[in-house]
Amino acid sequence: MTREHATEAEEEYMETMYWLMEAELPMTGANIARAMQLSAPTVHEMIGRLEKDGYVSRNADKSLAFTEDGKRHAAEVVRRHRLVERFLTDVLGIPWDEVHEEASRLEHAMSPVLEERMLAAIGDATTCPHGHPIKAGTREPGVPLSDVEEGAKVRVLRFENEAEDLLHYLMDVGLEPGLEGELTASEDEVTISNGDRTVSVTRSVAETVSVAADPSPPPRTALPSQLVLGKERYGR
Ligand SMILES: [Zn+2]
Ligand SMILES: [Zn+2]
Repeated sequence: MTREHATEAEEEYMETMYWLMEAELPMTGANIARAMQLSAPTVHEMIGRLEKDGYVSRNADKSLAFTEDGKRHAAEVVRRHRLVERFLTDVLGIPWDEVHEEASRLEHAMSPVLEERMLAAIGDATTCPHGHPIKAGTREPGVPLSDVEEGAKVRVLRFENEAEDLLHYLMDVGLEPGLEGELTASEDEVTISNGDRTVSVTRSVAETVSVAADPSPPPRTALPSQLVLGKERYGR
């Protein structure tokens, strides 16, 4: 039996776990810790709560799985998060690097009626402004930008990591979902160019950007342990 209401913290974790599932990455404590940039003990404690509340179960190999209730609940929160982000950018005109945190606050408190209204307001949009599908099960397979070989044609699908610093960085350099171009690479940077624009990001950031590529390496989603936004590494 699940409790009537999950806490906001529980919902945040379930969102990350849902993303791991979408990305076909193993649902483990280590991967959750990595994706949320939290310590292993913190994550361990919350997983215990999610298990107790009936949202998550543990497989024989210690990996985690959603219960039926957990999966339904996670899908709802994820859908609301992405919908709110799209509403904030398209309807309210808030830049896409500023909507993730706002959506993370609003997603826990929305009524089905408000959700219905927002859905109507966003028109034909099918993804959040960072490229994640609002409707479950419609994620287009991609590869990390960092995996793509020089000279390939790429189209940016989505930002796998929506950390605020990272979104500001991507906005500043001009990288956004839908951008198409040809790839060139150096030791430190990956560049997409087309007739209008040349956009470069660090290799570390390129791991967090999923693209469709031609020719394409095998589909995969990367989960880097540390993000490097500039030439200077931070955290040292
Ligand atoms: Zn977000
Ligand atoms: Zn988003």
